[in-house]
Amino acid sequence: MKFCSLRSGSGGNAVYIGYKDINLLIDAGLSGKIIEKSLVNINVDPNKLSAILITHEHNDHIKGAGVLSRRYDIPIYANPATWNVMERLLGNIDVKNKCNFKTGEEFSLGEIKIKSFKKSHDAAEPVGFSFFCNGKKITIATDLGYMSKGVASNIMGSDVVLLESNHDVDMLIKGKYPWALKKRILSDYGHLSNESAGEALKKLFELNSVGMVFLGHLSQENNKPEIAHKTVTDMIKKSGVKCHIHMALRNIESELIKI
Ligand SMILES: [Zn+2]
Ligand SMILES: [Zn+2]
Repeated sequence: MKFCSLRSGSGGNAVYIGYKDINLLIDAGLSGKIIEKSLVNINVDPNKLSAILITHEHNDHIKGAGVLSRRYDIPIYANPATWNVMERLLGNIDVKNKCNFKTGEEFSLGEIKIKSFKKSHDAAEPVGFSFFCNGKKITIATDLGYMSKGVASNIMGSDVVLLESNHDVDMLIKGKYPWALKKRILSDYGHLSNESAGEALKKLFELNSVGMVFLGHLSQENNKPEIAHKTVTDMIKKSGVKCHIHMALRNIESELIKI
């Protein structure tokens, strides 16, 4: 499988996963133009996109989904509760391109098997995804209020994981966001902090149950890539585990990983 975080952050999210002739976009939370350009940068022809999978209906995950579906006649996959809220936000989508999955149930696109899983976040029915193909596993888990047992068990055994490392708690508390927004971000339905991401990864590394890690969905206001990287790496290293943590950034594609 191929994996690339096209953009990751509170300003917009899109991930590319591909295998043979299947090319998937997971979320499309930027303009259609930016996503097209970004795909071209990693040598993927937007005309060859097979499907767009949606984690939840927030604008930073769906902004370009309607445009791309119309422009390239691509099916959009989401669970019914997400469709219910998202439909009016996407504009007109061809009936044949409105595809459903049930959270927790596996389905396949080509040779890629896809499993969605519940997560805690303030959206209708937000999910993370694991992708299985050729004995390999990739998991995407961002927009998490906290690391539940369910999410952790879905991350286990992943060769590649994109995990949220949204904010530095201290920067958020001292920062200029209104208190209500700070409270939302810190709540169980908000976003995972650097510290919580580090804690979760420390356990996963100790169990030897995670491979390559990308930290993503960083806040522009309340985080910096070097702070997220250092906080998480230091926490993992404390337990004596060697790791190399990659970053999924807001304005540039990550490296294209082939596993
Ligand atoms: Zn969200
Ligand atoms: Zn988000």
